[in-house]
Amino acid sequence: MPTLFTKIINREIPAEIVYEDDLALAFRDISPQAPTHVLVIPKKEIASLDDLEDGDAELIGHLFLVVRNVASQLELADGYRTVINCGRDGGQTVDHIHIHLLAGRPLTWPPG
Ligand code: 5GP
Repeated sequence: MPTLFTKIINREIPAEIVYEDDLALAFRDISPQAPTHVLVIPKKEIASLDDLEDGDAELIGHLFLVVRNVASQLELADGYRTVINCGRDGGQTVDHIHIHLLAGRPLTWPPG
């Protein structure tokens, strides 16, 4: 059963894609929590941080380089926040690991 985000990768569900390469996809969140809210995902189905394998180290590093590139592409010069929710208490709702990239307003701390 493909994940919701794999369906976006396969263009079975529409999304506003801002970046794509062989390993990763970045697209705008359907329910943005900031003026810019992009999700960066691996094309490989990894459910969560808890499901990472040692061999995924390079892939996860790549995702953060994608974050850097998307931030540059979208001209997020005033800064941004990255978030990876994990599990129930972490607020994860889609079981396909993703980095939230949030920008465009001052973000408060601590998070809710
Ligand atoms: P999580 O809560 O798992 O950390 O984040 C999942 C994110 O996926 C949420 O911010 C939610 O708005 C977003 N999302 C859920 N379904 C869709 C969808 O069909 N399309 C897009 N673009 N984003 C989605």
